[in-house]
Amino acid sequence: MAKAPKIVISHRLHDDGMAVLEKAGAEVVIVGSGEPQDMLPHLKDADGVIIRIGSIDKETMLACPNLKAIGRPGVGVDSVDVAGATELGIPVVIAPGANTRSVAEHAMAMIFACAKNMLVCDQEMRKGNFGIRSEYKAYELYGKTLGLIGCGHIGKILAELATGIGMKVLVYDPYLKEDVVQGWGYGYRASMEDILKEADAVSVHTPLTPATKDMIGEKELHLMKPTAILVNCARGGIINEPALCKALSEKWIQAAATDVVVQEPIRTDDPLFKLENIIVTPHMAGQTKEAASGVATLAAEGVLAVCRGEKWDKVCNPDAYKHARWGEQ
Ligand code: NAD
Repeated sequence: MAKAPKIVISHRLHDDGMAVLEKAGAEVVIVGSGEPQDMLPHLKDADGVIIRIGSIDKETMLACPNLKAIGRPGVGVDSVDVAGATELGIPVVIAPGANTRSVAEHAMAMIFACAKNMLVCDQEMRKGNFGIRSEYKAYELYGKTLGLIGCGHIGKILAELATGIGMKVLVYDPYLKEDVVQGWGYGYRASMEDILKEADAVSVHTPLTPATKDMIGEKELHLMKPTAILVNCARGGIINEPALCKALSEKWIQAAATDVVVQEPIRTDDPLFKLENIIVTPHMAGQTKEAASGVATLAAEGVLAVCRGEKWDKVCNPDAYKHARWGEQ
């Protein structure tokens, strides 16, 4: 009988994912940290690793000769040295689609909360300021324009949700063709600047890459309407945080909401918390009951399959299967 695989996990997965590993008889080690130096002692003889929060670099992979699979219970792989993994023939298992709807709903909830000025009003009510209701900062979303920066799986569902409440949708995504976007019923803009100028709510749904890092800074924020809302449920660092703080404190835009920040977990003395017109949530858009179960199950199933030698298709680097170690089977 084949030896049970050893799977190292940065942080405990949703129970449904843990159950998949248990059923397979895997030896599971939960480190409680995703820092490479904390995981390394456990990883040295591991077959697979699943990283919820944390990172893995090529140096760590090289120090783990048994390592066959890296799993991410999500689709963001900026924390994994994917090029290094590919070079070493290690597939990086992802969980596409499992948290898409949850993230889109979270972004929609943030747009609603900002448009209705809910966070500020809640804080004022607690101080006894019932009169805040007469500031008329809240507005209807019907007829307003949602600008999407990146319109992949999540952006597309958010576009449907927004259309459902009567918003117009504009898309900036250089990897999509104009006629495709128009075929979906949305406006296409070849320049992000146009989206920033025209939209009442802008929502970012791109991966974090060298091209998207600091994609929205002071210059871009200055283009937005003073009543505009800016939402980021993608990755910290796509919107430059010092620039965002300046824009919010000087009221270049009305409000922002972010599920992600550069430094996670965020410190309580972070400058973002000095502002009243931003909502900050703890990278939880994809952490609904449904999504957490889905991503954990897919990541666990995929990592186990790769450890068994199967060419699992839900990986972000299929080229890893071209490596000699896969040809030998
Ligand atoms: P996706 O790959 O389906 O879509 C990303 C889209 O961004 C693609 O259409 C792509 O063409 C576009 N894009 C890439 N570079 C761009 C650029 N420079 N300018 C404009 N558009 C660009 O991914 P998805 O499933 O929609 O997820 C989007 C991102 O959301 C992920 O990369 C991930 O980092 C983040 N995410 C966050 C959470 C969370 O909990 N907050 C959960 C899941 C995903």
